[in-house]
Amino acid sequence: MAGARSEIAVVVPVFNEAENIEPLLARLKPVLERACASFEIVFVDDGSSDATLAVLRRVNAADARVTAVSFSRNFGKEIAIAAGLDHTDADAVAIMDADLQHPPEIIEAFVAKWRAGFKNVYGQRTDRETDSPLRRLFAKRFYRLFALFGETPLPPGAGDFRLLDRQAVDSLRAMGERARFSKGLYAWIGFSSIGVPFQVAERAAGTTKFSYRKLTRFALDGIMSFSTLPLKVWSYVGTVVSVFALIMALYFILQTAISGVDVPGFASLIVSVMFLGGIQLLSLGVLGEYVGRIFAEVKRRPLYLVGERIGVGEDGDASPVPARHRSRI
Ligand code: UDP
Ligand code: MG
Repeated sequence: MAGARSEIAVVVPVFNEAENIEPLLARLKPVLERACASFEIVFVDDGSSDATLAVLRRVNAADARVTAVSFSRNFGKEIAIAAGLDHTDADAVAIMDADLQHPPEIIEAFVAKWRAGFKNVYGQRTDRETDSPLRRLFAKRFYRLFALFGETPLPPGAGDFRLLDRQAVDSLRAMGERARFSKGLYAWIGFSSIGVPFQVAERAAGTTKFSYRKLTRFALDGIMSFSTLPLKVWSYVGTVVSVFALIMALYFILQTAISGVDVPGFASLIVSVMFLGGIQLLSLGVLGEYVGRIFAEVKRRPLYLVGERIGVGEDGDASPVPARHRSRI
């Protein structure tokens, strides 16, 4: 890049992907050389504990078009993508995984669509066969729930693998939220969008970096950043339960008036007390989830902390000296 603005940048979040970086570059570079006039590849090391950072230094030394930003710890893929977008000034930015599950060759088709005027070109996975059956079930349930609750419809099969025009990138960067559900954000910004179907390949090396715990957090962030229905639903539940309680009360009054006082009824009493207690705790839990997220937002901590920049400045310009321990919102 050497100061000049690249036409295309590819942002790749990496978390313990040392053995995938070089195979990815070997396949990605020829594609970019064919597809555009000039390019840069920005890796975001999301606090890896393996040799990822050393490999990134090596690939940057060999080719200045490959740059990297390294976090002070693991901040998660969503935030790594945000950092990648902050560290490039290219005209269009592609985002892809490092494990070769996103075929680099598809980027050529992305660029063609971008040249045809689309600003939000997304890869549309045609199947989920590479995911484990449990994860597939989890994903299916989640997207059904999101369609029901979410206030932003998501295009089916769309994920992080995509190409965004500078205008779309700037719009995403303007969103300072901490709980970043990228899939929702890409859909929320709008712009002329189009899908390019692709088949997800098997992971080249290593294993998935998403534990079920991480996925659950991700799913909760997704629903809660794009829906307030879980907050509002309790007033409806409360109304239904109250009406039901009123009917029960009337029934008991009538029964007492007609056939006198009746002692049995402990079972129904305990069940209704527990039921109501359960509903109240659940609604408090939902409130807690939202309040926790509001708390995280109002603290206004930086989205991420950079430990080291390799071949790139804070604003995406080439920088000869890596800036250490600087933060950025
Ligand atoms: N990743 C990351 N931070 C994380 C988890 C994952 O940057 O905390 C990166 C990972 O290195 C890879 C991409 O995000 O480049 C997708 O991760 P992975 O392939 O493990 O997810 P899956 O394909 O199983 O959804
Ligand atoms: Mg993967």
